[in-house]
Amino acid sequence: MLTAVLGLLGAPAATADVAPFPTLALPFKAGQQVYSAGIHSDDGGTGVKNAIDFSPADRTVRAALAGTVHLQHCAGGDWVTIDHAGGWRTGYYHLEGIDVTDGEHVEAGAVLGSTGNALPCGGSSTGAHVHFTLWTGSGAAEPVDGKTIGGWHFTAGTEQYTGTATHLADNAVTQLPGHFRAKL
Ligand SMILES: [Zn+2]
Repeated sequence: MLTAVLGLLGAPAATADVAPFPTLALPFKAGQQVYSAGIHSDDGGTGVKNAIDFSPADRTVRAALAGTVHLQHCAGGDWVTIDHAGGWRTGYYHLEGIDVTDGEHVEAGAVLGSTGNALPCGGSSTGAHVHFTLWTGSGAAEPVDGKTIGGWHFTAGTEQYTGTATHLADNAVTQLPGHFRAKL
């Protein structure tokens, strides 16, 4: 139901060798109820499914890992990416009340802003959320499928905006779109 965005999310190039995928936290505080609209590509239509939408109950979006903030500028305003050690980048789209500055170093869990419906580079949003995206440092889309984030293992479905989230602590499986409680 939620996002659909753009080929514009490609983020600027930076060359770097890519280290093994890092241990990420979910981009919000653990221990709360969250709705996810599922795993999809940045434009919600074609390409690598490198994004997943989250609507945490507290509406507060946080850095998934320490790194350097880059505010990406579009005609409609700014959105947030973070470059991490080892040549990885995460993106946080649709945020309102962006609470970080360009070039700022943040630790994991730092508040970036609030979930929202902002469309700085276009796209659509039908409910406040963060469109959370994975890239390599060179801007290549990195699949969400097969990744473990915040103690949950994510598997993409065949269709856009589907998939599963498996809680590794007890193997409980949540079908996406759906709600889960994001405790570690
Ligand atoms: Zn999305």
